[in-house]
Amino acid sequence: MELTGKTAIVTGAASGIGRAIAETYAKAGARVAIADLKLEAAQAAAKEIGGGAIGVAMDVTSEDEVNAGVAEIVKAFGGIDILVSNAGIQIVHPIQEFPFAEWKKMLAVHLDGAFLTTKACVPHMYASGRGGSVIYMGSVHSKEASVLKSAYVTAKHGLEGLAKVVSKEGAAHGVRANVICPGFVRTPLVDKQIPEQAQELGISEDDVVKKVMLKDTVDGEFTTVDDVARTALFFASFPTNALTGQSLVVSHGWYMQ
Ligand code: NAD
Repeated sequence: MELTGKTAIVTGAASGIGRAIAETYAKAGARVAIADLKLEAAQAAAKEIGGGAIGVAMDVTSEDEVNAGVAEIVKAFGGIDILVSNAGIQIVHPIQEFPFAEWKKMLAVHLDGAFLTTKACVPHMYASGRGGSVIYMGSVHSKEASVLKSAYVTAKHGLEGLAKVVSKEGAAHGVRANVICPGFVRTPLVDKQIPEQAQELGISEDDVVKKVMLKDTVDGEFTTVDDVARTALFFASFPTNALTGQSLVVSHGWYMQ
């Protein structure tokens, strides 16, 4: 198994993409910590996943909670080899109506969360002498823009810069950093957006899916949580610094580099 003996923390893993990554990592032999807002949800997911997974309460926007959660995981597992910074939310408004507090919340979850978890985890990767893998959950919106998503697109573009710096700073320690950029994946995050966008754009929910979300894919298909989890396994198990500072788009051809 590709991740035997490895330990991983996946943020936002009580649901959706993070949950699928945690499951895939556990199946590949890793011990996985599921970090999410609510302890019960994180623990329930850990129990279902099995393989020695644990659930930890963590709001990734809180430095204290991130540091306490990472310390708890290190105590339980003895170290951290893989960080998947995945926790995310979506808020859509036209820019002239975007409440400043909601803009700040978006940047806090996506960017502060990525920064704080990276800052807390890399010292353990450096100290182990085994290196590590840091994976940020970007989006096609790390490359492209869509109306109503000023905060999300800004945050997701920002993760690409962070990954490049972490890859340069981490190289001497064998710590790699990469970004996964999925297209639309049918998770609670996307299900919530469909009626919201229909209302904002004045079109039907069916048209939001066909004419907005999947319009530019090669085949009109959603990306799946499994597609993203396979990519996360590929990055986590890649053995050298040859694959670092990169972003990989998994989107049914919505975005082609
Ligand atoms: P989801 O809503 O199913 O899961 C997100 C998880 O993050 C939830 O369990 C939630 O509790 C957790 N979370 C939210 N705020 C948090 C915080 N402050 N601290 C800790 N946990 C927090 O969403 P998803 O679709 O699985 O999204 C996961 C990631 O994938 C996000 O970063 C999202 O932007 C990205 N993404 C999603 C899609 C998509 O189409 N679903 C596409 C591209 C990228």
